[in-house]
Amino acid sequence: MLGLMQDRPLALPHVFHRAEQYFGHKKIVTAEASGETTTTIADWTVRVRRLATVLDTLGISADGRVGTFCWNTGRHLELYLAAPCTGRVLHTLNIRLFPEQLVYIANHAEDEVVFVDRSLIPLLAPLADKLDTVRHYVVIDDGADVAVPDGWLDYEELLAAAEPFAGQFVVEDENTAAAMCYTSGTTGNPKGVVYSHRSAVLHSLITLVADGSALSERDVVLPVVPMFHANAWGLPYGCLLAGTDIVFPGPNMTPKAIAGLLESHKVTVTGGVPTIWMGMLPLLADHDLSSVRTILCGGSAVPRSLSENYRKALGVPMLHAWGMTETSPIATISTLRTQHDSLTEDERADIRARQGQAVPLVELRVVDPETGEPQPWDDVASGEIQAAGPWIAKEYYRGEGGGAQFTEDGWLRTGDVASVDRYGFVRLVDRTKDLIKSGGEWIGSVELENEIMAHPKVAEAAVIAIPSEKWVERPLACVVVKPGETLTPEEIIEFLTPRVAKWWLPDAVEFIDEVPKTSVGKFSKKTLREKFGGYQVAGPTSHDQA
Ligand code: ADP
Repeated sequence: MLGLMQDRPLALPHVFHRAEQYFGHKKIVTAEASGETTTTIADWTVRVRRLATVLDTLGISADGRVGTFCWNTGRHLELYLAAPCTGRVLHTLNIRLFPEQLVYIANHAEDEVVFVDRSLIPLLAPLADKLDTVRHYVVIDDGADVAVPDGWLDYEELLAAAEPFAGQFVVEDENTAAAMCYTSGTTGNPKGVVYSHRSAVLHSLITLVADGSALSERDVVLPVVPMFHANAWGLPYGCLLAGTDIVFPGPNMTPKAIAGLLESHKVTVTGGVPTIWMGMLPLLADHDLSSVRTILCGGSAVPRSLSENYRKALGVPMLHAWGMTETSPIATISTLRTQHDSLTEDERADIRARQGQAVPLVELRVVDPETGEPQPWDDVASGEIQAAGPWIAKEYYRGEGGGAQFTEDGWLRTGDVASVDRYGFVRLVDRTKDLIKSGGEWIGSVELENEIMAHPKVAEAAVIAIPSEKWVERPLACVVVKPGETLTPEEIIEFLTPRVAKWWLPDAVEFIDEVPKTSVGKFSKKTLREKFGGYQVAGPTSHDQA
C-alpha cells in the first residue's frame, strides 16, 4: 500500500518563493569595499528575477554551469538562487585555489559563465585564456579600484536591462543538480561534488533544528565561512527559509572587520573556521558582542581552549560541527545532551571539543579500514568514519576517483579516523587523507613532498601536520638528505619559495635518517606524527591567506 501524500519536489524555488512571500521586509547587508549596502529581501527577490532573465539572455544552456568567483555578498546570494531556480547549476569557485587548479576545475565543470567580484579580477583575468568553455565574464562591481578587461560585462548593467522573470520558478525533479563544489583530492585532481535540489533543501533544514544553530526569524546571521566552501555550511539557504536578517562580510575578512559587523548589526548567529575566532580573541574586550548566541565552528577541530575562552568571555562556547564538502557539509554537531547535565563545566568542555553526534537523517559507522569490521562505540576502538544520508555524496562528478571513496553498500568513506562514545559522540583522532588543513584551507602534503624531493640533495621527504594555535595545522617537512650532502632548513625553504604558494611553505624542517615505512612500503605518516606530535614552532608562520 502506498502513502497518499502529495509528491511535491524538495527544490530551491520553494526557498526563494517563501522568502519572497513572507520575509520581504527583512534585510540583507553587505560590507563592500566602498561601504555597507543594505537591501530588503523584497528588492533582492526582484534582482534575482532579473538575474534569471540575464542567464537566458546570455544563452546559458538549460543545465549550464554558472561559475562564481566571489566573496560572501548579497549579490552572490542572488546567484545562489537564480542559477538553480532556473535549472542551471551554481558552481562556486574557491578563490584561494592555485591557478592550475582553478583552470582544471572550471574546464572540468564546463562553466559557461563566471561571475566575478571586481576586487578578484586580478586572480581570474590571467587564467581567462585557458578557461575553454567560459563564454562570458560578468563583473560584480564591489568598489575595488581594479581595471576591467575588455569585453567583460557589467552585472548591474545586465540586471538593469533585464525584465524580471514573471511567475513561479519550477524545478520538477528534486534530484536535478542545483550546485557543485570541488574538493581537493589527496592525490590526483580535485573532484566535483554535485548537490541536488533535494539534498540542498533537506540540508538547509538542519540549520533550523533546535539542537543545531536553530535559525529563526528573530536571528541576524553573519556567515563568515566562505560561500565557496560547501555552500557556506547551508547558512544562506537556511537564512532564507527561516527569514533571518543576513549580514555578509564581503572582501574584508579580518577579525577586526568581523568583530565590528557582529557588534554594529547585533548579530545573533555566526559561523566560521577556528582561525577566525582565534584571531578575534584579543578583540573581544573592545566590542559589545552580547547579541551573539551561537558561534558555529568547524572545518578543522575546534580547540577546547578556544571554545572555553569564548565561553568565559561571552558566555557562548563554540558550537562544534564536523563535515566535508561531500556531506553538504553538516554531518555532526556537538550539542550537549541530558546525559551531560551532571558533568562539571570542565568535563562539558571536553564534550564540546568532540565533533558531536550525527544530525537527524545522517548515519555514521566506524569501521576498521583494513577489514571493514564495524567498531564498537566504546570511545576506545577507532576506525574510519563512514557516512550515509540524503545529503551525502554517492559519487563524484563524471565518476572521478573510480568509486574508491565509496563502499560497496554505498556509504561515503570520509578518510577521517574517529572513536565514538556510547552516546554516539564522535571524536576525530586521525586522518587517512594526506592533507594539512591550515586556516580552513588545504595544503596537499604529497604535492609538497614532491616539490621538496625535486631538490637535488634530498633523498626522501615526508610532510605532516603539526599543531598551530593560529592556523590549527601547519606543515612540518621531515627530510632525508642524500649521503655525503648537507642541507639547511633555509635552503629547503628558499628552494620551495618559487614553487609553491607562500602559505604552503613548511613552518619547520626536521632532518631525519629515513622516512618510516608501513608494511607495504608506504610512508608511515602515523609514526612521524607520533614522533613530532608535540612539535612547537618557534618563529612566526608564513601563512598569509586570511
Ligand atoms: P569544508 O569546506 O567544510 O572544510 P572539506 O571537504 O574541505 O570541507 O574538508 C573536510 C575535512 O575537514 C574533514 O574530512 C575533516 O578532515 C576536516 N574537518 C572538518 N570539520 C572538522 C572538525 N570539526 N574537526 C576536525 N576535522 C574537521
